[in-house]
Amino acid sequence: MSETGRTHSFVTRAIHAGREDLSELGVHVAPIDLSTTYPAVDSTTEADRIEEFANGGQPDGSPIYARLHNPTVARFETALAELESAEAAVAFASGMAAISACLLAGGAPVGKPHVVAVRPVYGGTDLLLNSGLLGTDITWVNADKIAEAITPQTGLVVVETPANPTLTELDLRAIADECGDVPLMVDNTVATPVLQRPLEHGASIVVHSATKSLGGYGDVVGGVVACSESFARSLRSIRIATGGILHPLAGYLLLRGLATLPIRVKHASENALELARRLQQDERVARVYYPGLDDDRPGAGQMSGGGSLLSFETVDDAKDVVLGVKLITPAVSLGSVDSLIQHPASLTHHVVNPDDRNACGISEKLLRLSVGLEDVEDLWADLDQAL
Ligand SMILES: *Cc1c(COP(=O)(O)O)cnc(C)c1O
Repeated sequence: MSETGRTHSFVTRAIHAGREDLSELGVHVAPIDLSTTYPAVDSTTEADRIEEFANGGQPDGSPIYARLHNPTVARFETALAELESAEAAVAFASGMAAISACLLAGGAPVGKPHVVAVRPVYGGTDLLLNSGLLGTDITWVNADKIAEAITPQTGLVVVETPANPTLTELDLRAIADECGDVPLMVDNTVATPVLQRPLEHGASIVVHSATKSLGGYGDVVGGVVACSESFARSLRSIRIATGGILHPLAGYLLLRGLATLPIRVKHASENALELARRLQQDERVARVYYPGLDDDRPGAGQMSGGGSLLSFETVDDAKDVVLGVKLITPAVSLGSVDSLIQHPASLTHHVVNPDDRNACGISEKLLRLSVGLEDVEDLWADLDQAL
C-alpha cells in the first residue's frame, strides 16, 4: 500500500491513489499512454523482461508491447487495489473478461476445475458458469451448503453480495469459514469498495464490472480483480495469453471515476433509501428489496450503506412501469449518474433458466432500479406517474 494508503481516509485515497508520482512528473492529471509498442533495443535483456511479463511479473522499464502492460491502466489498478485493501489489482476489457480470467486462474492448480456458486449472480456469470464454456464444472448451492459441496477438485467459490438483482445479502465471514482453503471470489460490483470491502471479511478475490459504479458515467466498459499479488500474477499471465486487456482511455476514465466514487455512492444511496421507503409504503408495490430495510438480514454490518440499486415487485404488470417512465431511462446496466430501470426476467437475467430464475426470486413482477444522482423528488414523481 502506498504512502497515502497508510495516512489518509478512504475519500482522500479515492482522489489521490494511483497519482502519487504526478507532481514529480510535473503534471496535474494522469497522462494517457496510447502506445501499442515500445522501443526494445537490447534483445538480450528484453528476452528476460518479456519472460517476466509472461510469468505475470511487472518488470521496470519499457512495457515492450501494449498487451503486456500499460502505465495508464496500471494507475487505475494501483488505486483500486488500495481502495479494496488488496495487495494488487488486475484490470480487464469488461467485467465478464475479469470473471473469466478468475475462473481460469482458480481452476489452473486443480486440473479439471470445479466451482461452487450461490444464486443469484449476474445473468452473464450464471450463463458462463452453467455453460461450462471454460472447462469448469458447477455446483449451485444455498449459502449454508457450501462446505458440503466442496470437493478436492474445487478451485473457486463464487458469490455476489448484495446480489444482482434481488439485493440478497450474504454473510461473507461465515461463507469464508465454510470455504476453508478454497479461494472465495466475491462480485462486489453492486456494493463498491465504498460500502463493502470483501477482503476485510475473509474473501480472497474481489471482482468488479467497472462498467458500473467505478466508471460511474455510463461511458466506459471494463472489469477489475483485486486480490493477492500471487493470484494477480496468474491473472496477468492469463490476460497476456487471452488478450482481454483494458484500453488505456478506459483506464484513464476509470481512474477519474474513482475520485468521485465515494461522493456518488453516498448520494445515490441516500436517494435509493428514500425511494425504497416510499415504495415500501405504496399499495401499488407488493415488495421492496433494498439492503438495510430489514435489520435481521445476514451480513448486517458488513455494508456501511444500502447502495444505489433497489428492486421491487409491482401489483400490476411490471413491464408497464418501464413503458411509463419519462425521466428514468429504461435500460440495463447500473451505477451511473442517471437513473435506469429494467425488467430482469426479460433482460439481464433472461439467460437464466426460468425455473432457476423464479427459485432465486427473479419473478415476472420484479423491476430493478439503479438510482442516480437526480433530485429524489423528481425521481419519485416519475415513478409515481409510471406506477
Ligand atoms: C454488469 C455486471 C457484470 C458483467 O460486467 P460487464 O462489464 O458487463 O462485462 C458482472 N457482475 C455484475 C454484478 C454486473 O452488474
